[in-house]
Amino acid sequence: MANGTHIRPPVIPGAVIGILGSGQLGRMLAMAAARLGIKCHIYAPEPGPAFDVAAFHTIGSYEDEAALADFADKVAVVTYEFENVPARAAEVLAAHCPVLPDWNALATSQDRLAEKQFVQKLGIETAPFAAVDDSGSLARAVAQIGRPSILKTRRFGYDGKGQTTIRPGSDLAVDFRSVGSVPCILEGVVPFVRELSVIAARSVSGSFAAFDVCENEHENHILSRTIVPATLSDDASSQAIDIVHRIMDALKYIGVITVEMFLVEEKLADGSKRERVIVNEIAPRVHNSGHWTIDGATTSQFEQHIRAICGWPLGSTLRHGRIEMRNLIGEDTNRWRDILGDSGACLHLYGKHEARPGRKMGHVTRVLLKE
Ligand code: AMP
Repeated sequence: MANGTHIRPPVIPGAVIGILGSGQLGRMLAMAAARLGIKCHIYAPEPGPAFDVAAFHTIGSYEDEAALADFADKVAVVTYEFENVPARAAEVLAAHCPVLPDWNALATSQDRLAEKQFVQKLGIETAPFAAVDDSGSLARAVAQIGRPSILKTRRFGYDGKGQTTIRPGSDLAVDFRSVGSVPCILEGVVPFVRELSVIAARSVSGSFAAFDVCENEHENHILSRTIVPATLSDDASSQAIDIVHRIMDALKYIGVITVEMFLVEEKLADGSKRERVIVNEIAPRVHNSGHWTIDGATTSQFEQHIRAICGWPLGSTLRHGRIEMRNLIGEDTNRWRDILGDSGACLHLYGKHEARPGRKMGHVTRVLLKE
């Protein structure tokens, strides 16, 4: 399979790079690429927000090997805006051009069990977990982890989909059916004080750059607000960034990664408090909690990803102030005119026509200058 060593000759301005997926992450990647003189070719089963801003697009399924091969022949490197790329599609693409990040990063993050095992092997803490393959093994897992606990499908979960809470006294057969009777993991509930994410990049030469730790608030399992810097001790911030560095090095990762984490507070014997960081999940891509970097940092997460996969030096992650990013979900987007009237607001709309409930329609960033 392709890896960074295949990025030769260097990708230069004027080149065309390929992106799998036509959503808003692909759109913002293509806009960042355009600023650097790079054209994007989007490949996706359906049109989406990325089509509006990319130089080229192909509508094709991730199973259509001939279409994938044809696409890969036209681009210098392929990347993606979502992690559920089928293994075979990545293999077909990699036979034609580099695919970055590498397949092992996708394979690890596609499966919650493999992901947690990988993280623990690095000596990094996760929630306690047990594998669940059927309702019998769910009973054993519940005996080990306890209740309440969270049952999550191993694959294809996002925004809280594919998970259920195992409550005291619940019927485990019903719980298992409610997530589709597919392979799962059971996780202990982490008593977190805050949810965090770290967005970082690693270049072809192995250099590493992280943005400041983000603090994330969710509503109905969907990210609603990100605040940067997160409220946490310097020690916990260093822990969080060091964890991501170790994960990226272990994967020999090239591109931008996001690691979602929980911050827990531990009371020590002398009455003092210590903060600890626990890994929740890895997204091998740019992330909603990093949208603030477009307006609030010297280099955006999108530009950083383009730089990394092109084999270019990483940019500065310097933050321009205190940041608040709010998602515009569903009908929130109808407030666009009022938001335009707010001189401190940077409005981003994704060009989606139908404001369905729960749909990410855009976001607003406010950068408050440092005092
Ligand atoms: P996930 O899909 O794993 O990111 O989970 C979605 C959300 O559920 C997280 O952002 C947390 O708010 C919550 N959550 C997931 N796993 C746990 C856990 N082990 N302990 C406590 N809360 C969790």
